[in-house]
Amino acid sequence: MPYEIEKSDAEWREQLTPQEYAVLRQAGTERPGVGEYTDTKTEGVYSCRACGNELFSSETKFDSHCGWPSYFSPLAEERVEYIEDTTMGMRRVEVRCAKCGSHLGHVFEGEGYGTPTDQRYCINSISLTLRPKGA
Ligand SMILES: [Zn+2]
Repeated sequence: MPYEIEKSDAEWREQLTPQEYAVLRQAGTERPGVGEYTDTKTEGVYSCRACGNELFSSETKFDSHCGWPSYFSPLAEERVEYIEDTTMGMRRVEVRCAKCGSHLGHVFEGEGYGTPTDQRYCINSISLTLRPKGA
């Protein structure tokens, strides 16, 4: 299925910084603990840094102590898409932006975090832009 927002590789490279491009378009992973939103408590909405699609709310963000921003659910299921990822020799589920196909992170479940969904959307800060409430 084509994405609502389709850009050429050259266009993405022009729009994004090399660090953003490596994560969003090449499914890279930020080093743990370095992302700008890892411990952010600000109320607001996190959107896709590549296309602006609103993805997560601060209301579902929780302290997972895993080194990346973690959410227990997306803003709405249709905002993201899930792709099975076996690249690291294990089965993981990749989370992408449903609008532009950019890589966001992975979702894990059944870890016992005690959140309403028992899921952890482990998302790269660099894939997101936070718009604080009221801003
Ligand atoms: Zn997007």
